[in-house]
Formats: sequence, C-alpha cells, structure tokens
Amino acid sequence: MNFKDLQLNKPILRAVAEAGYDNPTLVQEKTIPRVLDKEDVIVSAQTGTGKTAAFALPILQMLFDKQDAAKSGKKTRALIVSPTRELAIQIEENFKKYAVYTNLRSMVVFGGTSIEPQKDLLAKGVDVLIATPGRLLDLHKQEIVNLDFVETLVLDEADLMLDMGFIDDVKKIERLCPADKQTLLFSATMPHKVKDLAGSILKDPQFIEVSPTSSVAKNVGQVLFYVPKPQKMELCLHLMRNTIKGNIIIFRRTKFGVAKLEKTLKKNGFKVDSIHGDKPQSERQLAMAKFKKGEINVLVATDVAARGIDIKDLDSVVNFDLPNVPETYVHRIGRTGRAGELGIAYSFCSPDEKAYLATIQKLINTHITVEEDHPYPLDPKAKPEVHKKQGSKHKKGRKSEASKKKKKRWY
Ligand code: AMP
Repeated sequence: MNFKDLQLNKPILRAVAEAGYDNPTLVQEKTIPRVLDKEDVIVSAQTGTGKTAAFALPILQMLFDKQDAAKSGKKTRALIVSPTRELAIQIEENFKKYAVYTNLRSMVVFGGTSIEPQKDLLAKGVDVLIATPGRLLDLHKQEIVNLDFVETLVLDEADLMLDMGFIDDVKKIERLCPADKQTLLFSATMPHKVKDLAGSILKDPQFIEVSPTSSVAKNVGQVLFYVPKPQKMELCLHLMRNTIKGNIIIFRRTKFGVAKLEKTLKKNGFKVDSIHGDKPQSERQLAMAKFKKGEINVLVATDVAARGIDIKDLDSVVNFDLPNVPETYVHRIGRTGRAGELGIAYSFCSPDEKAYLATIQKLINTHITVEEDHPYPLDPKAKPEVHKKQGSKHKKGRKSEASKKKKKRWY
C-alpha cells in the first residue's frame, strides 16, 4: 500500500515524504482509514510500529479539512493524553513534523515545569494539544484550557497510564470533552483494566491488533549472559569496551541502580547520561537532547522514564537487570532494530533473576541464545545469594577471636 491510497492531503503527503517514509506501516494501514471514517478504535501496538503517525496523520487530515473555519482564535479540536512527559514531547515533535505545510498549530503541556509560559502559549490557541493528565487537569481547572471543542481524543500508552495510577484522571478528562467526540485508544498490552476502560468510554470500537506484545521484532538479535550479581558491572564494562558499540540504552530496575551505573561508566570515560523519575524534568530533557544530538552515546534509564521514547539509530539495548514484568522485556528490546534497522539486545541474568528469565522466555516463546564465552561466567548451579543479617554493632560478642586473644596478651 502507498500513502496516497490513504486519502491524505498533499501538504501532509509532502511532509510524510520528507520524513523519509516510503510506505505506511501495518498499523498505519489499518488505523488511518478507520480514524478518517470517524470511528472509535482500540489499537494494540507497541512503540516502534509507527503508531504515532497512525493517529497523527488522520487527525491532521481531519483538522486540515476544516482549518479555515477556525482562523480567529484557534480551538483545541484534538487532544492527545500521554502518561509521560518524554512521550508527550515526542508526540508533539511528530505533529510538528507532519503539519509543517499546514497552518495547524500543536502544543505540548506537562508537569514538572513552570506553568506560566504554557498559559501564554495556550492563550494564542492551538489545534492539537498534547498533555500529561495532571497538568492538563490543572490548566483546565484554571480555565486556561477549554475542552468543549475536542473532536478527537487520543489516549496513548493506555496500559502505562493505568499502571501509573492515572485512571481517575483519564476518566475525568474524557468526561470534560464533548460526548460525541471520537476516541482512539492505543496500548502496547491489553490487560483487563485497559479493556474495561475502553468498554466504559469508547463507542462501538474497532479493534486493531498489530503485533502482540509477545512477538519480538525479527530484526532484534538477543543474547543472554549468565553472570554473578556482583560482577554485572565488570561484565558491562568489558562488553562496552570490546563488543557493544554505537548508541546504547542500558536499563536498570531502580533509580538507585541507574545513578550508580551512570557514575561508574562516567569514571571509566564513557559519554553517558541518565533518565529516571527522580531527576528534574529539565535534566531529563537535556539528557535526551544530548543523546539525540550524539553528544553522548550511552543512556542509562529506568523503565517508566524510558517507555515510549523513540530514539533513532539505537544500536543496542542492555538489560543490566532483567525486568520482573515479562512484557517490559519486549518493550525494552523493541527500542532497537526499529523501522527496518538491525539491533541487538544484551541481557544479564544473575541467579536471583532466573525466575524472571523463565517468564520472559515463556512469553516470547524463545530460548534466548546464551553467550558463555565471557570473563565472568556463572556457576550453573549457583543459587541466589542469601544476605545474612549483620548483628548490631552494639551487641556483645561482635569481637573476633583474634581480637579477644590480643586483649589477653595485653594483660
Ligand atoms: P512510533 O511507533 O510512532 O514510535 O514510530 C517509530 C519510528 O518509525 C519513528 O521514528 C517514526 O518516525 C518511524 N516511522 C513512522 N512511520 C513510518 C513509515 N511509514 N515508514 C518509516 N518509518 C516510519
């Protein structure tokens, strides 16, 4: 199929051609006609499938058709709700790119930054508003945002939105928009709570499934290293010096782990930055910008901070810690090997993570190839380390035999 077959206007087709897209991706092929027909849709697709353009292009098309009517004081007619700030920024970049030959205006609002500049820009009026839930409700409460004219509402990464506890906010936002709007729900996974949400707010939705979460992109190589937990850092350094090249994202489960790894990599001369939930928004954006510009080539991240982020030319993903939710593995490694490129995912598994590995392998229905040839192999029979509680320093009997003997000698 060709983009021209999708009934898109010339200015949009021109922008798409300039973005370097030859043909629509599967999710675009299936979703765009439905959206243009004003149907509600539930789309099960991961990032990397081209899902942003699958809603951005038809929305721009629909707005473009009516854009002259709104010359005086633009009204927000499309609202995109995204769970994370990074993703919201990225969606807006997409809208700007595709709308470059139109007069349509888009804007992104999110928390963690000053609200005043956002108010000023909003006062000028925008056609497409991209927002995180909290800041959107805040701006609405202050009567800066008017949702009365929303024709299309998009809930992106709905599963993450619910995981992050935004269910009430999302329902509230939906109620603030007109009842006859079109709603598009995108989600990487389809757990019951997402289906329930869809059932309660969508009208006769069309269900579009592109690639189930369990299917790992074919152009991503996967390698597994069994390694004792204390030696993961050494293995990481070893691989980064000898094997892993190019642009790399390293995932860790905790913010603390991210900070620690970042510090070690910096000490060892790598150009690295990090994103995690405890970092101020400005620093997270700066890290992303540096990575995109090539000033650094290593980004260490937690899952929530990194979810949905689209980074071009990503060569490798390192799972320094295996995720405890198997779907997360699929999301993480889906960040490399995007849009036809080749990528590799390296995963470290210590004895305490073997159960996680089992659920991941079950989900993807594959045994990940094990690389045994490395300097920190794990004894196959190794059991998870049990950390014995250290006794209190103030309790009796903490002295070693040697020190007791020494005392006797002194007398
Ligand atoms: P997304 O799933 O929206 O995060 O998109 C993943 C990547 O695919 C982004 O870098 C897009 O710019 C790119 N992309 C989207 N649509 C196409 C297309 N039709 N052809 C090639 N690349 C695309």
